[in-house]
Amino acid sequence: MGKKHLSGQKALVTGANSGIGATVAKELAKAGAAVAVNYVVNPEEAQRVVGEIKESGGEAMALRADVSNEDHVQMMFREMFTRFGTIDILINNAGIQRDAPFAEMSLDYWNTVISVNLTGQFLCAREAVKEFLRRGVVPDVSCAAGKIICMSSVHEVIPWTNHANYAASKGGVMMLMKSMAQELAPRRIRVNSICPGAIKTPINVSARSTPEAEKALLKFIPYGRIGETDDIGRVAVWLASDDADYITGASLFVDGGMTLYPGFSTGG
Ligand code: NAD
Repeated sequence: MGKKHLSGQKALVTGANSGIGATVAKELAKAGAAVAVNYVVNPEEAQRVVGEIKESGGEAMALRADVSNEDHVQMMFREMFTRFGTIDILINNAGIQRDAPFAEMSLDYWNTVISVNLTGQFLCAREAVKEFLRRGVVPDVSCAAGKIICMSSVHEVIPWTNHANYAASKGGVMMLMKSMAQELAPRRIRVNSICPGAIKTPINVSARSTPEAEKALLKFIPYGRIGETDDIGRVAVWLASDDADYITGASLFVDGGMTLYPGFSTGG
């Protein structure tokens, strides 16, 4: 086998002790990256991900930080630089839902979701970009000075009843991502989003907890299956690699066709 896609690269994945983040962390490690596994709760889950990576011969460490807290984020990056030296790939994955009908949505629900899903992505991206700008391109490692992948959602474009805070946060991620991509492309920094559809993780257990709920969900997915975290993990590795070097400012929908307006599939 030739050189692994991401060998010699250092990656940080936020919210990597669960769901999509855990799989992305393991896939990046499989592709040769050393991976920092961020978590805020459940340290044992973060250690499990680190353990699995190490057992397969990879390099990983767990780093605790609340991505919505500026001091935590800055400490996490300092620790990353002490242990790994630098960062090449940031996966801005941490995200939450706090759902409520619009008229009943508390300011606390609104602020909590915006703080983690949008401000958290800003805070982590800013620290990564400072390091990308300081270090520049290292041609033996990657064509780019750095890569950021924002975990957005189909809800950056699909409105969502009872989830105004979540949809607004992901719409915000889209313009954060595109504005960063525009500003930083001349410095050879690539910024893109992955927009998952419905992927089986703890975030959406209730949406598929009964056969009826699963059937209702499948109506929104022309491809006829609910996504697996591997569907996202493989795309993240590719998008972070030099194979995707000419891609920046893109929202890549990985959704089995959920954004194809399936309601119109019978002619409208
Ligand atoms: P998940 O609940 O399994 O994972 C979310 C992770 O974020 C967890 O590890 C959680 O501890 C972490 N997190 C939450 N708040 C944090 C904070 N303040 N600081 C650090 N970490 C924090 O859910 P998931 O489905 O794997 O979600 C991952 C990302 O994918 C989220 O951004 C979510 O919006 C997005 N997404 C998921 C789906 C889906 O169908 N699962 C669809 C679209 C988008």
